[in-house]
Amino acid sequence: MGNSRIANVVFPKPASRRILATGGAGFLGSHLCERLIRQGHEVVCLDNFSTGRVENVEHLIGAPGFQLLRHDVVAHCGELAVDEIYNLACPASPPDYQADPIHTMKTSVLGALNLLDLARERGIRIFQASTSEIYGDPHVHPQPESYWGNVNPIGPRACYDEGKRCAETLFFDYARRYGFSIKVCRIFNTYGPRMRPDDGRVVSNFIVQALQGKNITIYGSGTQTRSFCYVDDLIEGFVRLMRSPDDVTGPINLGNPGEFTIRELAELVIDITGSKSRIVHCPLPVDDPQQRRPDIRQAAETLAWKPTISLAEGLPKTIAYFDRMLGAETTETRESAA
Ligand code: NAD
Ligand code: UDP
Repeated sequence: MGNSRIANVVFPKPASRRILATGGAGFLGSHLCERLIRQGHEVVCLDNFSTGRVENVEHLIGAPGFQLLRHDVVAHCGELAVDEIYNLACPASPPDYQADPIHTMKTSVLGALNLLDLARERGIRIFQASTSEIYGDPHVHPQPESYWGNVNPIGPRACYDEGKRCAETLFFDYARRYGFSIKVCRIFNTYGPRMRPDDGRVVSNFIVQALQGKNITIYGSGTQTRSFCYVDDLIEGFVRLMRSPDDVTGPINLGNPGEFTIRELAELVIDITGSKSRIVHCPLPVDDPQQRRPDIRQAAETLAWKPTISLAEGLPKTIAYFDRMLGAETTETRESAA
């Protein structure tokens, strides 16, 4: 008797929303789209495919409620009937964002304006993928959200750093002026499957070099530090932030506080892959931050969030992904040459 009553209990499904994910075909965006579709939402994945790839979301095409749009956020998005916006559109790797710095700046600034206008017109919640680059080459370590940063406004990284800083300013001014709900997170270095093998970031470079037996290129002495977050942990943080009460606006740091020198990362990759690659030193890029580690107390307190996957656990998953990908590419090249 008791059992039949239990069987009749119906748990309410969380309300399904139509969610716009800009930059949805990129590394982080594709994981976000996947997560939202899995939760039963409709997703409009909007991308200009400058650094993103259709392959990242190919498995979602045909899923109920998934729509893929080619569009550049620098131009107005038109009237999109969506209930929520995640704005991830922007190249994130230094070689990518420096390839067309003016377009990078336009993407952050005009993209933010266009999407904020859409949010204002529809009265909907909007999330901004900001960055630890807001802190530049920090003089405070680890970096709390209250630190205003140390950014060179005219250097080669400025198109990204200052673009993202300006976007944050616009988010807070729109919220103050028009009173809708904003969610700003500052993402620290994140890695995982679906990074491009040629994106130039340190994790992808080192893994690809190790798997291909090429020299591992440490820029500078390798004593500079970064804190690496596995993608699944980050996406969990995104979703928690988006679902948080209206008064939680951020900016809020999301990242893994485990801090490593770049040399330690190189050694770990060599160790896990068993590679015979040699470490070589190359010039340090201009304005390369010397140290970076998030203070995540705010995320822990307001979102009950903390990363669960260490670098030692996340790297093998990422290496396995690159191994499969590079293996498939080698087979394709061989087949097309035959
Ligand atoms: P990514 O380059 O893989 O993804 C960016 C996506 O945005 C791509 O699909 C690209 O085609 C698209 N895009 C770029 N410019 C656009 C434009 N003008 N209009 C429409 N689409 C555009 O990078 P990612 O690592 O997935 O980063 C996603 C977001 O997270 C970015 O905003 C980035 O600044 C931020 N972020 C990422 C990290 C990280 O470690 N991955 C760290 C800090 C911040
Ligand atoms: N880096 C490196 N070798 C590479 C690529 C990057 O030593 O092949 C260094 C880079 O100089 C920086 C760190 O690794 O100190 C992280 O670089 P990445 O481009 O991944 O991210 P960001 O500098 O934006 O944090």
